[in-house]
This record gives sequence, C-alpha cells and structure tokens, in this order.
Amino acid sequence: MTDQTHPLTLYNSLTRKKEQFIPQDASRVTMYNCGPTVYSYAHIGNARAAVVADVLFRVLRHIYGEEHVVYARNLTDIDDKIIKAATEQGVEISAITEKFAKIYQDDLKALNCLEPTEEPKATTHIPDMIVMISELIEKGHAYESDGHVFFDVSTYEAYGKLSGNTLDALRGGDRVGEGEVARKKNSADFVLWKPELDGVGWDAPFGRGRPGWHIECSAMAKATLGEVIDIHCGGVDLKFPHHENEIAQSCCANGEAKFANYWVHNEFLNMGTEKMSKSLGNVTLVHDLLKEWDGEVIRLALLKAHYRSELNWSEDLLRESKANLDGLYRTVLWMKERGIDIDDIEPYVRDTTLCNDLDVHSQIRNIIGYSFRTRELIAMKAEDREINGAFPVAIKSAKLLGLLQKDPEDWFKGNASSDDQAEFDAIALRRQEARAAKDWAAADAARDEATAKGIVLEDGPDGTSWRKA
Ligand code: AMP
Ligand code: ZN
Repeated sequence: MTDQTHPLTLYNSLTRKKEQFIPQDASRVTMYNCGPTVYSYAHIGNARAAVVADVLFRVLRHIYGEEHVVYARNLTDIDDKIIKAATEQGVEISAITEKFAKIYQDDLKALNCLEPTEEPKATTHIPDMIVMISELIEKGHAYESDGHVFFDVSTYEAYGKLSGNTLDALRGGDRVGEGEVARKKNSADFVLWKPELDGVGWDAPFGRGRPGWHIECSAMAKATLGEVIDIHCGGVDLKFPHHENEIAQSCCANGEAKFANYWVHNEFLNMGTEKMSKSLGNVTLVHDLLKEWDGEVIRLALLKAHYRSELNWSEDLLRESKANLDGLYRTVLWMKERGIDIDDIEPYVRDTTLCNDLDVHSQIRNIIGYSFRTRELIAMKAEDREINGAFPVAIKSAKLLGLLQKDPEDWFKGNASSDDQAEFDAIALRRQEARAAKDWAAADAARDEATAKGIVLEDGPDGTSWRKA
C-alpha cells in the first residue's frame, strides 16, 4: 500500500535541490548505503550515517510497504588496513572482520536500527568486481599498468558532477599509494585493482590481486539492487572521491546515464569544532557509549539536528536526550494507566514535517511539545477527548523514528537485574510505609539509600515507586 498524501521530498546532492521522491518502481524501492570497513569499532559519527539511513529506510517502508523497499548496506571486509592488522596479529582476515562485523551489527541494533534487507560482503562479490573491471577495460574506460588497473577519468565526461570538484582537489583524489602516481595516465585516475598484499589476493584476468575500495560498492550495489538505484546514502566526506568514483565506474560499465537518482548525504558529527574521525583521534565509540547510556538515548541525541546540519556531540546532548525520553515515557505510562496502550498504535507518517526532507529534529520538537501538553492536561484533569487528542499521533511519529520501542515500566527500571529490582522495590516499600506512618526520618533515610543506589523514588497516590536516575 502506498501513501502519497504528503509526498516525500529529499535534498538531492546531485542536483543540489530539494526534489519530490519518485521511485523507478514503487513495488521495489532501492537504497544503498556505504557500510563500515570492519577492522575496528564504529564511532558515533559512523553511527550518525547509519541512523540517518535507517530513518529514511523506515519512512520509505511506511510509505511504500515493508516488502517493497530493498536496503543494501555493505561490509567492507577486504582492505589494506585489515590485511595489515591480520598479518601483524598472525590471524586470518576473517578472524578480524567477522568479529568487528558482529560488533557493528550489535551496536546498531542497540540504536534501534533495522537490519538492512541485504548486507553484502566485499569478499563474496570479488567475481562481480572482476566482471565489472573487465567491462571497463573492454569499453576503454580502464587500463592496466604494472599489475594495477586504473579508471581513466578522462573517458568520463560527467566526472566531478556530484562533488563539483576543482582540478586541484581531483589531483589528490584517490586512495592509492605514492608509488602508484607514476603508473597513472591522469593524476585523478583511481585504482580498480591492485596486486596481492601479504599473500592476500584473488586470480583475475589482469593478474592476481585485490580490489580497490570504490569498485566494491559499484559491484555490490549492482548485484543486490540493480544497475540504477533509487537512493544512495552516506556521509558528506564520501561524496568525493568515493561516490564520484562509484558513479563513474557504474555508469561506464553499465552504459547508464545515472547510477543513483537521488544522493542523500548526512553532515558531520563534530567533537568540539572538528569532525569526529579516527585520523584525528577524537573518537567516541558507540560500543563504549552503550555501556553508560540506553541505545534509544544515543539514537535521540543523533537525531537532534537535521541530517544536513552538523551535529556537535556532547555529554549534555546525551543528558538532554535522556531527560526528553524520560518525559515521553512518563506520558506513555500515564496514558497507559488511562487505558491507551502504545502497542496498539500503528506508526504514522502522513505529516508534512517528516516528509519534508526528513525534518526529524522539528518532528521531535513537536513530539516533546505534545507530550508535555498531554501531561499538563492529565494533571489538570481535562476531559478525555482533549487528553487523548494529540499525543497518540505524536507517539506514532516517535515509533516510526525508532524511538519509544520499550515498555514504559521497563524504561524506568533501566537494565537493573532482577536481584537489584527486588532490592529497589524493598526500598520503595520502606519509604511508602514510613510515609504512611508519618515517620519522616525513616522516609528520608529510604530516599537517601535510593540515591546512593542510583535510583529515584517517586511518591504517588498509589504509593512509592522507583526509577533509574
Ligand atoms: P568510514 O568507515 O569512514 O567509511 O565511514 C562510514 C560512514 O560514516 C560513512 O558514511 C561516513 O561518511 C560516515 N562518517 C564518518 N565520520 C563521520 C562523522 N564524523 N560524522 C558523520 N558521518 C561520518
Ligand atoms: Zn560506497
């Protein structure tokens, strides 16, 4: 079922304007996102790219139907850094890549990211890459040189269109080593195939070797989605050279004018004033954050800026997001007590905000506003009709965004073990009984004990309850 009440618009980096999204085939909408190189932990900047793509995936699934959206996110499990790490540690490449692929998948799951429909691994698509490189050589777009194969950028007129790059930028524009510059016809040519490294390689008509990074995505996108895809996502840092090179390879090999009809790029997540990146050494790992914060808190923090704006990461942002979610879950709890269960509420997208180039952060502001107002109305003992009006709609939106996925009681209990829960229940009961007996000293003592254990006691008409601080 498609729902086009409010058409989805997306800012297309290729045309540099906001456009109505029209898929090639509404029964098979395709999106591709460049996945991680799996040799270490993902940082929260990487997670931003994954969460933005996940929101788009969720919105598309809602509009076109869950069965009608195919989302491919690859795993780059062959790369010089991986080979070097395996050699240093004296282990097989797969020992490293399988470990970090699993960690990546688990981290993203904790952030409520849906599994992509397809998760191709580069190492299982080497034959597709070899075929594509052979086609490029045959068609005169690539050439062999000293055990390498390069893409000849001078054969592709549209090269540079996505990034609008100057020649100066193009000159430095690939990931080949210093020595390879001498092997190229044009300085902006980029490598498609390299000789084997530390014994790691595959047989190919142009010599035993391993693929360049860019060809991996072109081959995997074609194998999983087709020659022309609807939407390609990724961080702005990938526009050039990676996405530019993907376009050149795919269009030239497939003989198509386009590789992706819409390019959706997320802006950077910054630490202070700088982009978070491994090379700058200012990274915060998702894996570490999850030890301290619920995944939903991290997800909300990532959604607090429009995807095309930079997001400054901070502890305060996490604290604010935690407080927002506490407020939302409290409203859900109060509504539940009034007989409205959010599990009965289907997600909802027919609002202009989300469909307007995924204006998630404005929508979150609306949701928080509705939530606050609903609690006010309940406290004022307003009429049911009034109270029940706005918030269910807001909940639908929040659920669609991958928020409010927990039971509210569980939310407030955090991830306390059952032993801890029994202990906290006992402290809450002590306070409740002390208050009933007007033994204020004992009531205060119970509260102090709670604070020391990292929980907060709340006195209500039905007694005292606890929640994680
Ligand atoms: P990489 O592993 O560096 O190829 O990055 C994986 C994904 O994360 C890509 O889409 C990058 O563009 C994105 N990315 C990397 N660093 C950041 C950052 N600081 N902010 C936002 N996105 C990022
Ligand atoms: Zn890619």
